[in-house]
Amino acid sequence: MRSSAALVWFRRDLRDDDHAALAAALAAHEQVHCVFVFDSAILGQLAPDNRRVGFLHASVVELGDALAARGGALRILRGSAEEEIPKLAHVLGVAAVYANRDYEPAAIRRDAAVAEALAACGIDWRTRKDQVVFELDEVRTRGGTAFSVFTPYKRAWLEKLAPEDHASRDTRVHPGRLAPAEPAQAVVPTLAELGFKPADCAIEPGMAAGARRLSAFVPRLRDYAARRDFPAIDGTSGLSAHLRFGTVSIRALVRLALATPGEGSAAWLSELVWRDFYQAILAWRPHVVTCAFKPQFDALVWEPDADGVYYRAWCEGRTGYPLVDAAMRELAASGLMHNRLRMLVASFLVKHLGLDWRRGEAWFAAQLLDHDLAANNGGWQWSASTGCDAQPWFRIFNPVTQSRKFDPEGVYMRRWLPELARVPAALIHEPWRMAPLEQQAAGCVAGRDYPSPVVNHDEARRCTLARYGALKGEGRTVAPLK
Ligand code: FAD
Repeated sequence: MRSSAALVWFRRDLRDDDHAALAAALAAHEQVHCVFVFDSAILGQLAPDNRRVGFLHASVVELGDALAARGGALRILRGSAEEEIPKLAHVLGVAAVYANRDYEPAAIRRDAAVAEALAACGIDWRTRKDQVVFELDEVRTRGGTAFSVFTPYKRAWLEKLAPEDHASRDTRVHPGRLAPAEPAQAVVPTLAELGFKPADCAIEPGMAAGARRLSAFVPRLRDYAARRDFPAIDGTSGLSAHLRFGTVSIRALVRLALATPGEGSAAWLSELVWRDFYQAILAWRPHVVTCAFKPQFDALVWEPDADGVYYRAWCEGRTGYPLVDAAMRELAASGLMHNRLRMLVASFLVKHLGLDWRRGEAWFAAQLLDHDLAANNGGWQWSASTGCDAQPWFRIFNPVTQSRKFDPEGVYMRRWLPELARVPAALIHEPWRMAPLEQQAAGCVAGRDYPSPVVNHDEARRCTLARYGALKGEGRTVAPLK
């Protein structure tokens, strides 16, 4: 007789509520085991001070406690998930393993291997959509193809959205089905045992903290459109790390946006649609992981920066452009960066320093608390003008104009650049223009206490226009370099 037990494998969905795979398993099986694997294939690639592991670890501990409080347990395994999951499923004698779908190429390969190993033992592999509202090519053009331009994608996404798309996947309707485990099987290793250093998380981990952050955002949602671009104020939700690890449900966010009509919620919903859009791009065009979405941009010739001077200045926040530097120092200190600043610093790396966008993408991947392959790659390719529906290549952010517009009083910059703390608002956007007496009054000598600009904006702009304009087929002439 076929077993009525199932195993739910938690990955980037670390919550026990509104969880598609868990709800499906509980509805179909008398007994549901749960497992999380500290996967050596993933952890092995990360530096010991990677701050996402701390977030993940605390969220796993909380999930284990939540499942135990409901009479179940979160079994903890270490090693290769590809090998451990089929082994555990076999030992437990389950009929099926459930998981929520992951669209990253490495995860797709891993899941295919797991499915194959399970099939060899007669165990079903059942996956559910959970991480996004619409996946893969669910949102299609009239011609039936996947979209590569955001605005029509968003229109089609909104037209398609029906109540069942954002309804909660209820995991509370079948109490008593969660299977317990021996205490030893549910012990979470310490971070040190996993080979990682403990680090303070700038965003509190776990689903309770995610719920608190979401509630705190509700009164601010109305003003989101007006406030979202200013890094000195708390104008956005700060939920990206929770979305990354699934400690909040994307459907709960969509329900909130729909329940709060207005300009703010419409703008916020639009950002959630961008998230789906980039996930769909990654799933359909996995070449973006290493190459430009638009192949003609793979021919761009980047500055060699052989000794890494420019790259290091950018990573360490020493470019001499205060808004760029403040953003990069915040990133290095906390793993956080405001969206407006991500666009600015990405543009600066590519279009001021002439460096390959993949170098910046890799630095973000190592540093960001919310790092998500699809969103990061999408954001970088947008900024580098190599992506689908990207910023046109001839549009180049002026870091001084951006600074005046988005941090006019210098409040954000002073927070991260103590050497500019006493520079008045009128001078902080271009400290290199301070007269000697002004430098003295501000206690900041240009070039000594704070770096002089590593590149000149007008010159960098000319080089970038030449670099991109040289590509065949881009059809725009530019003034020759001096
Ligand atoms: P809110 O403004 O409150 O938006 C709500 C949610 O919508 C976010 O949490 C996020 O999940 C999603 N979202 C918002 N903007 C975008 C966007 N442009 N693309 C995709 N999803 C979006 N976001 C990540 O989650 N992980 C990344 O690794 C990442 N890397 C980026 C790299 C670059 C170069 C750029 C330009 C953007 C990147 N983003 C990334 C998108 C965006 O900057 C962050 O999602 C946002 O800053 C998170 O803050 P928040 O949660 O307060 O967002």
